[in-house]
Amino acid sequence: MTNVSHRIAGEPVSTPATLDVFNPADGQVIRQVALADTDLVNDVIRIAREAQPAWQATPPARRAQVMFRFKALLERDAAEIARLISEEHGKTLDDALGELRRGIENVEYACGVPELLKGDYSHDAGPRIDSFSNHQPVGVVAGITPFNFPAMVPLWMFPMAIACGNSFILKPSEQVPSTAVKMADLLQEAGLPEGVFNVVHGQREVVEQLIDAPDVRALSFVGSTPVARALYEGGTRNGKRVQALGGAKNHAVVLPDANLDNAANALIGAAYGSAGERCMAISVAVCVGDETADALVDKVVARARDLNVGPGTEDGMDMGPLINAGHRDKVFGYLNAGVEAGAELVLDGREHPMVSHSDGYYLGPTLFDRVKADMSIYTDEIFGPVLCVVRVSSLDEAIQLINAHRYGNGTCVFTQSGEAGRVFADAIEVGMVGINVPLPVPAAYHSFGGWKESLFGDLHAYGPDSVRFYTRRKAVTQRWPSSEHTDVVRLTFPASS
Ligand code: NAD
Repeated sequence: MTNVSHRIAGEPVSTPATLDVFNPADGQVIRQVALADTDLVNDVIRIAREAQPAWQATPPARRAQVMFRFKALLERDAAEIARLISEEHGKTLDDALGELRRGIENVEYACGVPELLKGDYSHDAGPRIDSFSNHQPVGVVAGITPFNFPAMVPLWMFPMAIACGNSFILKPSEQVPSTAVKMADLLQEAGLPEGVFNVVHGQREVVEQLIDAPDVRALSFVGSTPVARALYEGGTRNGKRVQALGGAKNHAVVLPDANLDNAANALIGAAYGSAGERCMAISVAVCVGDETADALVDKVVARARDLNVGPGTEDGMDMGPLINAGHRDKVFGYLNAGVEAGAELVLDGREHPMVSHSDGYYLGPTLFDRVKADMSIYTDEIFGPVLCVVRVSSLDEAIQLINAHRYGNGTCVFTQSGEAGRVFADAIEVGMVGINVPLPVPAAYHSFGGWKESLFGDLHAYGPDSVRFYTRRKAVTQRWPSSEHTDVVRLTFPASS
């Protein structure tokens, strides 16, 4: 069986403790991932710290050249990377290629780092005094990433962190470890100096060691809300810069004037794509008026029944399995809870033939109607192919419902009214908003982040915010008195005039 090793200073490194990696499409163990011990984590932090000053001293334009080559290598090996993602995560190959494409856009943005790091300059800020500010790297940065985007989420982080002159330690999800290792190999092929990018595998203990290590100056995290909150609290207590993106419950509001065929098609993709295991997945459709709800439910259910559910690596599949047996059981538990609480289970994914005929962790598309705000299927992030329909009587009521939810990652509204779209976008307390766009994931040159319990920290992921997160501003004030000039003693506070 293949072992997935760590990548430290460009070298594969093994450790005795291992964990099984499963193919969720058939429940078989396909690999074993090495788990780091305390000594190895100490080593990797030291190696990253030692590699960083020379990398910081490398001109940004040369750092960008590594990113250009890395982008080309990711494109060269895209099919192989998509297969690794699909084998370990379960999503379809097309979906895996899609996440890789979105990840590569972050590398493209990082290729422009010389422009992004340009500082400000003021000539004659005072008498014969010039002032300039620039961005300097923070040092060693660690990234901790979730299982659901093995390529894209790490690519939100390390290309910009590295391009800005930091060294980086990636701790990927132990459930999908191979993509991170593949990307480390490609960075090495692209000419990145040893020790600037490293991958360590592990679980909670490794993350806690990174939170406590004084030499790790910043932490980027994406994962579930309880872990995001704990990491934010621990990291900031230790004086680190932290951005921690958490879970989500994303609502789509469907207004009576919406094109319902378009809305239904969009909801199918947004609710059931990647088996609902996306932080931007739409898991609640808020329908304004019973007529809208009745028509929408009919259209979604009719289309959802036709989806092809099966191994993501096979041609023609729309939806693969859930990540593991424990998670599937948890999602099944939510279905029972929804029925017990009185929601109407219109489409029960447990009846899909793949659930009983496969050893994989399948659940077919599921739809609950007449869901109420106090039911656990509404309050909690289920992270599966489960769409809940909530019926309300007005746009205002929809906005109040969404604003009362503890998560605020993404949302969208389906309408043909520009006015309604504008009112919604202004009033909604959510970080990313779509108007007739179900998954409003910002382009790489904007930044990504939710509000409320979907993000802990001040700066969002990737885009311009990532330059701010991975650098420190420094302001330099300089004066070069002429040789014949002698300063007089002044005790007053310096002013520009
Ligand atoms: P998770 O929180 O279980 O794990 C995320 C990472 O943290 C992994 O690397 C894991 O090894 C590590 N980890 C797990 N438990 C830990 C603990 N107790 N202490 C320290 N580290 C720990 O999340 P997951 O199941 O891998 O991913 C799914 C979650 O991620 C969902 O909640 C989803 O909404 C969220 N997510 C959010 C975004 C976003 O942008 N907001 C994007 C993708 C995923």
